Amino acid sequence: MAVIDELAPRLDQVRERIARAAEHADRRADDVRLMAVTKTHPVQTVAAAVELGLTNLGENRVQELQVKAAALSAPEISWSLIGHLQTNKAKRALEFADEFQALDSLRLAEVLNKHCAALDRDLPVLIEVNTSGEVTKSGLSPAEVLEFANSLAEYSRLRPMGLMTVAAPGGGAAAEACFAQLAELRAQLRSQAVLGADWPELSMGMSGDFELAIKHGSTCVRLGTALFGRRDYR
Ligand SMILES: *Cc1c(COP(=O)(O)O)cnc(C)c1O
Repeated sequence: MAVIDELAPRLDQVRERIARAAEHADRRADDVRLMAVTKTHPVQTVAAAVELGLTNLGENRVQELQVKAAALSAPEISWSLIGHLQTNKAKRALEFADEFQALDSLRLAEVLNKHCAALDRDLPVLIEVNTSGEVTKSGLSPAEVLEFANSLAEYSRLRPMGLMTVAAPGGGAAAEACFAQLAELRAQLRSQAVLGADWPELSMGMSGDFELAIKHGSTCVRLGTALFGRRDYR
């Protein structure tokens, strides 16, 4: 069966679930961006996703982003880098990424800002927060977020859009607490008028927990498995 024939019904289901979760939360489904996370999936799968209207694509490694972005160049596609980035790959990342959702150090902010200035472009960024407290996860600890966000004032080429998190696994109460915490941090950024920005984005919710994330105000769900099936890392 062609990739697109498998993907189309899954996408319908996902859109339906997003719509229902938004309705329960008294929100508009249109206010929740659906990012298709394409890591490990081949270019043909990504092309099928684009054909079905999934034009915001997410990758967590620069190398894989580069391969796919080079293979699929349509003006409607926007690429989001959602994984930890090493400073020595920042320049290459900027060749392909339209948005960076995993900002977690000032050193990286400085390097990205410098390369953006050289390219005369801006970069929308989200601060990644480790809301689950798992040591294996990247991101700032919640207690560091306000000071970090204030420090971004120095980097005029970065456009701070909001916060991103990967919740505790399981999709239950522990995940929900992560989403509530990210929303609370965003409320603090707004109430203290940090950088005078509105912090519109809350990127939270993956295949196992996106409805809960929408309940807590997610503006961007990042879905891989729910759209493309299980990943094969071989
Ligand atoms: C892989 C990945 C996702 C997608 O995960 P699924 O559970 O397959 O939907 C979302 N966000 C990040 C940061 C990821 O690395």
